[in-house]
Amino acid sequence: MDIIKTPDAFQKQCWQWRAQGLRTALVPTMGFLHDGHRSLISHARKNADKVMVSVFLNPTQFAPNEDLDAYPRDFENDCRVATEAGADLLFAPDPAAMYTPDASTWVTVDGPSQGLCATTRPTHFRGVTTVVSKLFMLAMPCLAVFGQKDYQQLAVIRRMVRDLNMPIEIFGHPIVREDDGLALSSRNIYLTPEERARAPHLRKGLVRLQQAAVAGQRDTKALKADLAAYYAENIPLGRIDYIEIVDPESMVPQDTIRQKAVAAVAVYCGKARLIDNIEIEVA
Ligand code: AMP
Repeated sequence: MDIIKTPDAFQKQCWQWRAQGLRTALVPTMGFLHDGHRSLISHARKNADKVMVSVFLNPTQFAPNEDLDAYPRDFENDCRVATEAGADLLFAPDPAAMYTPDASTWVTVDGPSQGLCATTRPTHFRGVTTVVSKLFMLAMPCLAVFGQKDYQQLAVIRRMVRDLNMPIEIFGHPIVREDDGLALSSRNIYLTPEERARAPHLRKGLVRLQQAAVAGQRDTKALKADLAAYYAENIPLGRIDYIEIVDPESMVPQDTIRQKAVAAVAVYCGKARLIDNIEIEVA
């Protein structure tokens, strides 16, 4: 696997592959790779001739009070995981190479980038869409793989790609979980043993909500109140950021569940802010 640090060299290699008629795939990450990332890279491996992984802790998607400096890093392990999962190239630029000091262009998406995570992280998604656009312009992949764990991010990227006619297929990969149901996340390392023991309730509560909806409770206010009570009881150390039930494409909150919806949650658990979601389909 080649490791490339500069945007120019990355673009040159990617465009060379495209000129050779090869199908290329990109998996954007912030590093500290785990089995969730590994699974995304394996999917890319099965669906492309050349697989590129980016490891870039993107400063523009963190607000000044957030955990950019504390975010875990382990570049050696990232290289190992990416190689094992079948990546051909790992792109790991310095922030200074990605953003010149007078960079003044943002890609912003309205609609799905409102509400949910944007309520407490109002500048987060413009950082994501700007860096993903830059990575897309550098790599021009045929396919890009993102995780459904960041459901709103995926919806925002799908909207951006559609609205800007980016010729890139987006694949949303199912959430990879620990055996006890906790979604894998680089930030799980922040959890104390006590918090870690409670964290699987995030998922358990969502499954209960899904079951209640399928069994006939379609009133989202009642479903959300029930989930909040479940979390208060089972994750007493946690502080709920949001519990929402939204349309899976537009991310608009729903009063009543009709056909398809997504329940999405964010809960502060000590130093970690955990997110999770579940798709709901009712007849
Ligand atoms: P991150 O490094 O956290 O920015 O994640 C990079 C990509 O991996 C994003 O598309 C995430 O949604 C995805 N991802 C992270 N954790 C998981 C997981 N547990 N299951 C599936 N995808 C994940």
